[in-house]
Amino acid sequence: MKGTVAVGGMALSPACLFLEGQADISARHVEDTGEELRRLRTASALCAGELSALIEELRRGTAPDQAEILDFQLLLLEDDNYMGRIAGIVQGEGVNCEYAVACHSRLYREELAALDNPYLNERVADISDIEQRLLRALSRREKAAIPSTPVIAVAQDLTPSQVVELGHGKLEGIILEKGGLSSHCVILARSMGIPCIIGAAGVLARLEQGQPVLLDAEAGEVLPSPDEEATRRYRQYQEEKQRERQSLERFRQGTTATADGRTMKVYANITSQLEVPGILEQGGEGVGLLRTEMLYMERDTPPDEETQFALYSAIVQGLAGRPLIVRTLDVGGDKSIPYLSIPPEENPFLGYRAIRYCLDHPEIFKPQIAAILRAAALGPVRLMLPMVAAAGEVERAKDLIATVREELEDRGAATGPVPVGIMVETPAAAVTADQLAGLVDFFSIGTNDLTQYLFAADRNNARVASLNSYFQPALLRMVEHVCRCAREKGIEVGICGQAGEVEQLIPLWVGMGVDELSVSIPSIPRVRCRISGCDTAACEELVGRVLEYTSEAEVRKEVERWS
Ligand code: PEP
Ligand code: MG
Repeated sequence: MKGTVAVGGMALSPACLFLEGQADISARHVEDTGEELRRLRTASALCAGELSALIEELRRGTAPDQAEILDFQLLLLEDDNYMGRIAGIVQGEGVNCEYAVACHSRLYREELAALDNPYLNERVADISDIEQRLLRALSRREKAAIPSTPVIAVAQDLTPSQVVELGHGKLEGIILEKGGLSSHCVILARSMGIPCIIGAAGVLARLEQGQPVLLDAEAGEVLPSPDEEATRRYRQYQEEKQRERQSLERFRQGTTATADGRTMKVYANITSQLEVPGILEQGGEGVGLLRTEMLYMERDTPPDEETQFALYSAIVQGLAGRPLIVRTLDVGGDKSIPYLSIPPEENPFLGYRAIRYCLDHPEIFKPQIAAILRAAALGPVRLMLPMVAAAGEVERAKDLIATVREELEDRGAATGPVPVGIMVETPAAAVTADQLAGLVDFFSIGTNDLTQYLFAADRNNARVASLNSYFQPALLRMVEHVCRCAREKGIEVGICGQAGEVEQLIPLWVGMGVDELSVSIPSIPRVRCRISGCDTAACEELVGRVLEYTSEAEVRKEVERWS
């Protein structure tokens, strides 16, 4: 079985299949009906939040009539005849919520259909709708089972929070039927050093639960029940990796410099404080991207200022003087946070995301800004705004940051200086980089999003992966433009997207004058080793040649020849 390599490596372990599908509505006896009723209430609150947001959206938009339909569904969530009777089944029969929802929805549909009332007859479809919404909410609340022994996870796709949770168990490898090279699931797998292949169509149907599997994420192959020869190959690979680790040992300490002595920084991309010891072990010089979404995704309510301050200050202290760049909440796209009630969107990657959402929701944004400003009292912290598309967004965010600072001062809270930067990850920001550079203290180029928006090619869609490539001349030209604008305005520029750690491209980043690369933790020594072999003048010449090419193939050939 074949797939596309997303994170290189090899693993040999039993398969753990994640079979998704319809929620399991069969009746199950539950001991603790109180806990089951709590699940029901949480699911109902989630649905109410989603529906209210949708209703508000429809009222404001072009379809106020449709809001009434959803109003009826919202009322059902408080209706004794609907929710009340579902709760009654859970309590009275000692059964699971899914069964009670499905069982009572069917009965209720039959009752409504039998009435001599056309209005209520038509509400049958609403019952089905709310039933499905509740079942989805109930399954969303279920945590993925965390295996207690080493496994290779096999799934259609995994959410970022599933990977975090599984990664802290015993996850040796990931095989996905779907997935995209720069999806957040893959980014996390890379940061945790977990080999992963994507686009392995049909793999779920062909593997058995618990069957030994060799995941060869170098060749992009999955071998069920590997024979002796394949197992020997795996052992050899392990030994080679061990040797490579030893040869990179000296790049786990000291500073980073090119062969001609130009200093650069290699930072880490992280999502939690659990990763800080790994950064220090691998010789990371700081954190170039703290993705804060995970903190919001693992919970039922937004993390308050204190919770966030605790996280940021733990990281600052763990980094012991090394800088921390905190990216403010980048919700939306493939990172959904149910309690924030962003209505379902047709194109979430082009939707109500990141800075767009945060600027409209100061009640969510301000506590995060406050926690960042306070953490800066303990060590070097910078604040980075995601998904900026227009100068006005930066201006509004900076005003809000100034307001929060004043409020903290009034409260007598200690704060520190916080340089403000932006992710350059929309073509609009890249094109206007000369103007934006005058507004901020630093740029960090988010090549994952910049590539998908530049080529209009979904980063999670394996079919358009050849366009979504960091070797495309259009992307390289755009990155070069951004770097030039940053240099001209005298601000720092880094790359925190995955392109920053692609070995063949590193000489280009050196030649473009990038100041820092922020990469996944396991790649830090490799990236530093590569930089140390680069001569700036030669890299600048390489950039000059590469920018003249018209095809991805020519770029690949040139950088590979150069390597
Ligand atoms: C990027 O877009 O390159 C980036 C680093 O941010 P994320 O992958 O979290 O969208
Ligand atoms: Mg991004």
